[in-house]
Amino acid sequence: MKAKLLAEREKDSKGEPEKKKSALFGFRQKVQWGVFVLTIAIGIQFFIYVYQASQGGQITVLRPPGVEGFLPIGALMGWKLFILTGLWDTVHPAAMVILGYAALISVLLRKSFCGWFCPAGSLSEMLWKLGRRLFGENFIVPLWLDIPLRSVKYLLLGFFLWVIIRMGSDEIHMFLQSPYYKLSDVKMLFFFTRISVTTLVVFIILVLLSIPIRNFWCRYLCPYGALMGLLALVSPTRIQRNPGSCTDCKRCTKACPYHLPVDRKLNVRSAECNGCMDCTLCCPAKDTLEMKTKGMGKRSWSVVRLGTVIIIVFLSSVYTAQITGHWKSSVTEHELIFRLKEIDSPKYLHPGIRGR
Ligand code: SF4
Ligand code: SF4
Repeated sequence: MKAKLLAEREKDSKGEPEKKKSALFGFRQKVQWGVFVLTIAIGIQFFIYVYQASQGGQITVLRPPGVEGFLPIGALMGWKLFILTGLWDTVHPAAMVILGYAALISVLLRKSFCGWFCPAGSLSEMLWKLGRRLFGENFIVPLWLDIPLRSVKYLLLGFFLWVIIRMGSDEIHMFLQSPYYKLSDVKMLFFFTRISVTTLVVFIILVLLSIPIRNFWCRYLCPYGALMGLLALVSPTRIQRNPGSCTDCKRCTKACPYHLPVDRKLNVRSAECNGCMDCTLCCPAKDTLEMKTKGMGKRSWSVVRLGTVIIIVFLSSVYTAQITGHWKSSVTEHELIFRLKEIDSPKYLHPGIRGR
């Protein structure tokens, strides 16, 4: 009798809504691709900018401040300095804006910065989807190995936070004004363009592991994602399951890229949930699995609304930073050309290494 009832519920909820849902499945991927392509474009523009500056001639492109999104440690220091003293880092201010945006989105809408926006997360997802095509399915790491591996990203985050917490505001200010930090964006570029054999080998290993294992980098190693996950623990937004209409089909759990047991939860509060909404899209029972925010009553998030808010908050953050003078670096073209000539001198080593 129960089986018949469940089959009827499932049947009732199929049809038109299912078609609409499958059309929505690609929406998040479109946003991810958009940000990914933008990141590549920013990387190429920055490469041309640094190349022209290193030649000492005329610079014909603008420096793209978005490149500072890859300087999260400096951004964390910048935020600590700002909270303690009210001083805003002028060397890489966009790094602070992008970290602030990611943190805000995580607090409001779970870790959806990772699931929708982060280009490293998108690359990770492209790789495991490639793995699924190649092998038919992804490899599931056994729990005895999965749990200790998952703690690695928190240990890395803990290490960075421990270093930053121990630094006083004067020390942070000196670091953020140091020659090393002024060229840290260039050094990051050289990390890829002048890649060492060791780095290349590590990179290839990470790519190879990311093909069979879902989100290998994000799940086990990324301290940025670990921070966003911890912030998301206080988020009023979560996936909610209605057990009254749930048919127990377990599609949601199978769809979850983080293997969360969605079919057994009333609310998904895990720090791993990246707000992708894939579980809600594959749920065949009407009004059963939804993303909701406390204080919004019975209204739930649609994929399009969530993605639109994520994009609008990003554009608003960048625009506000631009018009208030908190976006562009104070390092001028002239200063960059001068500093690039001496980049190999010891004064451009990390202060922690130089001090040894
Ligand atoms: S599938 Fe659902 S539970 Fe899993 S990460 Fe995405 S939104 Fe969270
Ligand atoms: S909540 Fe999960 S288990 Fe329940 S009907 Fe939806 S997909 Fe199936």
